[in-house]
Amino acid sequence: MSALEEIIKDPERLFIGESVPAEYLTDSYVADLPSVYGVALPVTHEEVMALVKFANEHDLIILARGAGTGVAGSQVPIHGNELIIDVHLMNKIGELDEETLTLTVEPGVLVGMVHDYVEKKGYFYPPDPASKHSSIGGNVATNAGGLRAVKYGTTRDYVREMTVVLPNGEDMTLGSLNIKSSSGYDLKDLFIGSEGTLGITTQVKLKLLPLPKVSQSILLAFEDVGKATDGALAILASGADPSGVELFEKEALYYAEQHLGYPLKTQVGQAYLLMTLDGNDEKELIARTETVREAAMSDALEIHVLSEDDAVKSWALRDNILIGLMAFTEYEMLDEVVPINKFAELIRYTKELQEKHGLNVINFGHSGDGNVHTVLMKGDLSKEDWLEKRSGLLDDLYQKVSDLGGLPSAEHGIGIVKKKYLERMSADINLDYMRKIKAVFDPDNRLNPGKLF
Ligand SMILES: Cc1cc2nc3c(=O)[nH]c(=O)nc-3n(C[C@H](O)[C@H](O)[C@H](O)COP(=O)(O)OP(=O)(O)OC[C@H]3O[C@@H](n4cnc5c(N)ncnc54)[C@H](O)[C@@H]3O)c2cc1C
Repeated sequence: MSALEEIIKDPERLFIGESVPAEYLTDSYVADLPSVYGVALPVTHEEVMALVKFANEHDLIILARGAGTGVAGSQVPIHGNELIIDVHLMNKIGELDEETLTLTVEPGVLVGMVHDYVEKKGYFYPPDPASKHSSIGGNVATNAGGLRAVKYGTTRDYVREMTVVLPNGEDMTLGSLNIKSSSGYDLKDLFIGSEGTLGITTQVKLKLLPLPKVSQSILLAFEDVGKATDGALAILASGADPSGVELFEKEALYYAEQHLGYPLKTQVGQAYLLMTLDGNDEKELIARTETVREAAMSDALEIHVLSEDDAVKSWALRDNILIGLMAFTEYEMLDEVVPINKFAELIRYTKELQEKHGLNVINFGHSGDGNVHTVLMKGDLSKEDWLEKRSGLLDDLYQKVSDLGGLPSAEHGIGIVKKKYLERMSADINLDYMRKIKAVFDPDNRLNPGKLF
């Protein structure tokens, strides 16, 4: 029995060389992945530690993987001698501590499972990426955002404590159940969003909130994206306190309407805001709905306070834009972010780029937090044309994002797909210190090297 088989005794959880399943070696964002040393699927923290030690002894690159839904290439092999440590079978939900309002989970638990589990018990886990099938370990590694970030923040804000295995095989607990800390550097925050380059998460204690008792969705139609952004800014400033403010263009909505087979409730205008208010008191919610109406009245063409049925249908349309698009064309989705008052300028600029580069572009996104999902569509372009036009457009687009004070990624991460743009948009000194931090935790550059920077 080999040393690796001593660690992972179940043959169904270990794949070496040619037996590695194709799903680990293919990715829609990164072409031509190399074969790897192997894939191991641990089910305990101790197995992860032993695997990392094995990789050190055999000079292998280590790559952590959760549900594999990443869209920046950070979970894919690029070297050829990776030991992929896939933690998706570490999927136990542990204690729900009602005194500290925390839930202990293993990293392979899916975020959708967390929502279902806590909501049945009257609690709320706000981070809400559209990929409900992504894992908590992956969400922490990418600081996943989603639809409720405008009011509730991102994954970072809901990690109280986490346990990690470091690149040398030692383990460490980061953070604590204390709500406040002025007790030294916050190492937990350093690991969150580090895309599996500093350690492998094996347990997380998530912060929960009481589940809001009432909610109301509102749909607003606007003449164009500029008006919709003005409307969003007015709503954010009004004190209505929305939990999500999503913006989508009519052009983007088209694909979801085709896919689901029904239209959005309103068809006027070229841009829409779909938003939710939540709270605990019906009367207060009605008053806040009125606040939204007053704030958006001068910009909006129509304002619809949605019934429960219409709300479900409208949110399904929002969630199905990308899935609908898949039936039409190959595409690349971005997740750039700009200060919220620059949202419309950025979207308008993408239309100029559409003309300049001859590549179709649609936009949707989280207008409440300035995060645009610009989608470049291949259509019937040849592969060469697509790659050339895409590259030219991305250069221009990220330059504009930088000029507007934005960042290349709001929630999906840098991986390898956006590496060159992070490099262009960050001061050398920042990247230099990131590299120094990486070297402190991983002097052998063993854990997911070549990603991020
Ligand atoms: C249709 C679709 C919709 C999406 N919508 C959203 C959205 O609304 N918001 C959003 O933020 N993202 C979204 N994403 C992106 C993706 O789901 C997130 O990046 C997610 O957090 C990745 O989780 P995962 O479990 O799939 O991680 P993986 O893809 O497996 O890995 C992603 C990164 O996390 C690291 N990692 C994974 N597990 C661990 C661990 N235990 N310890 C250390 N590092 C680890 C990997 O090394 C890699 O760097 C979407 C993706 C798709 C396909």
